[in-house]
Amino acid sequence: MSGQRDYDIIIAGGGLAGMIVATSAAYYSRQSLKILVIDRNAFPQQGMKTISGWVCGDAVGKNTVDYMTERIHISWGKPEIEHPVKGVVAFSPDHETKVSFDGEGYILNRKMLPQRQLADCRKMGVEFKERVALRSLIVEDNTVIGVEGDDLDNKTVFKKTAKLVIDCAGVTSVLRTNLPIKSHIERRIDRDDLEATGRYIYNFEQDHEDLTFFDPDYCIIHLDQKLAPGGYGWVFPKGKNKVNIGLGVQQKAFDARNKEMGVHPNLHTLIDEYVKFNPVIKNPTLADGAMDDGNAWGTWQVSVRRQNDCMVANGYMLVGDSAWMPKPLDAGGIGPAIIAATIAGKDAVEAIQANDTSEKSLWKYNKHFINDYGYKTAGLEVFRRMLQGLTNDQINYGMKHFLSKMDIDKITKGEHPEFSTVDKLGMMIRGAMNKKLADDLRYCADINKKLTEHYYDYPETPGGFPDWSKRLHGMLQEAFAKYK
Ligand SMILES: Cc1cc2nc3c(=O)[nH]c(=O)nc-3n(C[C@H](O)[C@H](O)[C@H](O)COP(=O)(O)OP(=O)(O)OC[C@H]3O[C@@H](n4cnc5c(N)ncnc54)[C@H](O)[C@@H]3O)c2cc1C
Repeated sequence: MSGQRDYDIIIAGGGLAGMIVATSAAYYSRQSLKILVIDRNAFPQQGMKTISGWVCGDAVGKNTVDYMTERIHISWGKPEIEHPVKGVVAFSPDHETKVSFDGEGYILNRKMLPQRQLADCRKMGVEFKERVALRSLIVEDNTVIGVEGDDLDNKTVFKKTAKLVIDCAGVTSVLRTNLPIKSHIERRIDRDDLEATGRYIYNFEQDHEDLTFFDPDYCIIHLDQKLAPGGYGWVFPKGKNKVNIGLGVQQKAFDARNKEMGVHPNLHTLIDEYVKFNPVIKNPTLADGAMDDGNAWGTWQVSVRRQNDCMVANGYMLVGDSAWMPKPLDAGGIGPAIIAATIAGKDAVEAIQANDTSEKSLWKYNKHFINDYGYKTAGLEVFRRMLQGLTNDQINYGMKHFLSKMDIDKITKGEHPEFSTVDKLGMMIRGAMNKKLADDLRYCADINKKLTEHYYDYPETPGGFPDWSKRLHGMLQEAFAKYK
């Protein structure tokens, strides 16, 4: 590594992932490294994703928060954890089938959480630079050596160098999109792998009790291709009379649905219809006060593909949404971001202590993340594509007849279901469409096993990547072709 650098680590983007990486690196280095977190927001708006706020469903499993706490001793409490839940329940489009995924979780307050994270980071000696909009990476000899952007207050150019830049700038990261060095990192995401999503945070009066529309103890998911084409609607409790309610759609499926129905809603009006359709939520008013001001309504996008096949380059790492980490099945990105950020901090420290932040030295981060989380995402991506092509009748039938207790346990753990019931001899399948559905589910379970094995065989060094990637794309192309 040539030349002096301003910092050991620069973290681009001080959102959820960025600040966990910072605390993890500070923890594993015993606060011996110089770490800078840069964000375009001012401190009171730390972690805000877009001008419409800290847009999120706010739900996270307790297990992933524990993962972080056990390793780097960062814990969250009130007010950033706003409400505890006992699990998630999914309803079929006809509301006849309810599937419960039990497991403790939290509904976070995404506006309050960054303030807690800021305090934790500062306690651990992490430096911050607010109000800098990063534009590009500084490179030398095919290696990232710093960042450049605009200081929004002084109207000057901001430039700093580091031994390692960790990109936590979210799904639209300009740094990843314009990565100017030779690397295995994919720079752009396919539009169909993005969900357009939005939500309200409302205080409301409960009209009557109906646990299929609001449950103070469970996160509710409504599957319905008319209501949320290619996605789902959600009603997540933030208290007895407070809710995070919204939905996500795949734009292509949304356009097809609108054409078929001869209607022209946009995401906003679709969400308004979803709220109106909920018979429990009476007189909703936008949540306000210090906890919610500026965050009660917003739309944003979230990726639903496997994580970037490679997440490191010389002097550069990707963590969180910038690496497309949200789970393909439900777009849950907080859990994988927590896991990846915890790991990344440790791997980054080891690379810096070894005085080697090359692609080869950072490579183990790919493997560590895959072993703890990423092994399952390609299979779930195939499954997500299959589900997006189903009709409401097929979803009704599939949820009623094809999901075993074991499948539900698997989904609860974030794993791919095995659909072993589908194989049982003597099972009566009504109609050719349901026979096709059974075949598709069986295919998904089979390809998932192969993809998982392939991920556990992720190359030890960058040299093995081209061959591994070629075999991965061979499997994926075959699977994707089925669900075009
Ligand atoms: C509507 C919606 C609902 C969701 N619901 C859930 C849910 O219920 N559960 C769940 O687990 N996940 C959910 N997700 C996903 C989850 O919100 C994300 O996975 C998570 O926020 C990722 O954190 P991050 O730090 O990687 O990215 P972000 O939260 O996007 O943070 C990125 C940070 O980088 C900064 N930044 C970006 N570009 C620049 C730049 N050029 N210069 C300087 N700073 C920059 C931003 O200001 C921001 O602070 C949802 C997403 C959406 C959109």
